[in-house]
Amino acid sequence: MPQPFDRVFNFSAGPGVLPVQVLEEIRDEVLNYRGAGMGVMEMSHRSAAFEQILFEAKADLRSLMGISDEYEILFLQGGASSQFTMVPMSFLGSGTAQYIVTGAWGQKAIEAGRFEGEVEVLWDGKADEYRSIPNEIGENELASYVHITTNETIQGVRFGHDISVTAPLICDMSSDILSRPVDVSKYDLIYAGAQKNMGPAGATVVIIKKELLDGVSRELPPMMDYRVHVKNDSMYNTPPCWAIYVCGKVYRRLLSLGGLMAVHENNIAKSGVVYSAIDESNGFYRGHAVTEARSLMNVTFTLAEDGLTKSFVSEADALGMKDLKGHRSVGGCRASIYNAFPNDGCIALADFMREFAHKNG
Ligand code: PMP
Repeated sequence: MPQPFDRVFNFSAGPGVLPVQVLEEIRDEVLNYRGAGMGVMEMSHRSAAFEQILFEAKADLRSLMGISDEYEILFLQGGASSQFTMVPMSFLGSGTAQYIVTGAWGQKAIEAGRFEGEVEVLWDGKADEYRSIPNEIGENELASYVHITTNETIQGVRFGHDISVTAPLICDMSSDILSRPVDVSKYDLIYAGAQKNMGPAGATVVIIKKELLDGVSRELPPMMDYRVHVKNDSMYNTPPCWAIYVCGKVYRRLLSLGGLMAVHENNIAKSGVVYSAIDESNGFYRGHAVTEARSLMNVTFTLAEDGLTKSFVSEADALGMKDLKGHRSVGGCRASIYNAFPNDGCIALADFMREFAHKNG
């Protein structure tokens, strides 16, 4: 099925696919942004035009996610990985932080936290190779904070609901932000790299409860200090202007599609197409995650006969379905189908999976 501009079906885990309509708008503005005589890549971050871009991006994100005035929104650099350190620097203090480790990214977060003080594992899915999420969370209410990763990009497991804890809840939402409505009021800090559901790499969104910041007393280097970034409205230093501009376009588009409930329904339908191909294969394909924990963003599966994985990936590639190889730590295949991934691509993959199983089963 030919795609606009001869585009392929891009199953990359991130940076990932962006909406064609957004890319077209950007293309039209790249040389001259709305009569400014220059593009956003070349524009001072102190210009009125860029200030408006930042203002609108924040306002649209607020309205998409239903973020109240009790929260600040920041666009920082350094990726979600920098948040693994900034979070404990600000909020760990002399107490203990508890981490729910549902996969590789949660593991990275706790490893970084160890440099800053006492951290402990509240739940770890390692024993079943990170196929599931916890049923119950018996956190210590005296914890400095509880940290979770709502969607584990590598293993393809996710929390399909907002959890409640007594301690401040801090969440890495890098690979499922904007994929479903969330109750932001349940979280004290949400962070996410832009490069999956929001825009190009380079911007990291941080949504932070003002009350959480009020409790920070430690002196910190300015770039590591959320308070400095809040005070300067994400402009303490040069912000990731281009990435913010593209994120803003994506937010607008999601609003025009009807908001996150509509997006979520579509994600359920899209991922369902691929999971059905797995479930109906009589064991030819095996989903990595247990059914209840299946990610809507990263569908992970192995082939019962592992020797066939290479030809599966290369035959799919030849048909224009790119980047289906799974992460080396899980093996098999991973189909990342972020918000902007076209529904037709999921249908094409499921058809291919059935044919491949028929031919090789
Ligand atoms: N957390 C999750 C869930 C991720 O998927 C990733 C990147 N794939 C990261 C953190 C790290 O993000 P970054 O590369 O932006 O530092």
